[in-house]
Amino acid sequence: LTSCENNETAKEQQPIPPVKIQTPAASKDPIEIGFSMDTLEEERWYKDRDLFKQAAENLGANVRVMAANGNDALQVLQAETLIDQGVDLLVVVPHNAEATAAIVHKAHLAGIKVISYDRLIRNADIDFYVSFDNEQVGELQAKAISSMVPKGKYVYIGGAETDNNAHLFKKGVFNVLQSSIDRGDITIIYDAWTKNWDPENAYKHMKQALEANAGEIDAVIAANDATAGGAIQALEEAGLAGKVPVAGQDADLAAAQRIVDGTQTMTVYKPIRKLAEEVAKLAVKLAEGEDIEGQETVNNGKSHVPYLLLPPIAVDANNLDETIIFDGFHTQEDVYSR
Ligand code: BGC
Repeated sequence: LTSCENNETAKEQQPIPPVKIQTPAASKDPIEIGFSMDTLEEERWYKDRDLFKQAAENLGANVRVMAANGNDALQVLQAETLIDQGVDLLVVVPHNAEATAAIVHKAHLAGIKVISYDRLIRNADIDFYVSFDNEQVGELQAKAISSMVPKGKYVYIGGAETDNNAHLFKKGVFNVLQSSIDRGDITIIYDAWTKNWDPENAYKHMKQALEANAGEIDAVIAANDATAGGAIQALEEAGLAGKVPVAGQDADLAAAQRIVDGTQTMTVYKPIRKLAEEVAKLAVKLAEGEDIEGQETVNNGKSHVPYLLLPPIAVDANNLDETIIFDGFHTQEDVYSR
């Protein structure tokens, strides 16, 4: 007999007792979150990206970020890539409220839930929506400006028509102004959407408004600070910067500096850290299969989506320090020393 045959026989005769395999305590794979962003071409979205990544990592999850820089087809493609990579959940900042419904459909086919971040995806069964109270953003702008200019000619520079938020901001503005408009105290002499929220387009709107009204404008409400910046540049060229009150939104650094300089009247501060932390918490819970209820729901054209709303804060020269600087959103040095 060869030694090999010997072994065979030995095996048959003496069955090996079952061995208990000692595995280390099953280490759970971290939750993978896909973050599909419209753009990283504007200041606020860098904060969103960094704060969201940090908040999710603090909860033990990983975040994969893709930004489409305003390209609808690319945003869908990037989301498909994240789905194919096997993320456990998708968080989406839609460029186009309608076009991104395709992302939700594809994610659901793959058993992946979707949270709409800051902007609402319309006509899709999204699982959760977290944002600031966007109608209130417009109301805060209009209250601040109309208390300074109760009567006069107003310019409204809207956001991107493809962004659901732009409609809510505008609704908020008109909630406040409508009674004065009806009385004839306030006249809206210019009102336009700004394609892609592009400051260059906002500048053109303001130029047109100034030309059409021989420079006689009493107040400007712009849907965000980037568009306010474009409008203020046009006012500057007409020698009117600092003379015509202007409202914006986002508490961008440039806007905070303009408030100090006196060329912008106010902005609306939305504490992005809060938004990022809330979405990170919800994302992890949803990915773990927990059922979560929203404070309220919003109808997105297809379903009643659970909705968590955070409060925005009006900021002007009087409370810059106790809001955005106190929160560390910008440093005192960045805002004041130029
Ligand atoms: C956001 C604003 C932002 C704008 C342009 C909106 O949906 O709520 O904070 O300024 O998009 O990016």
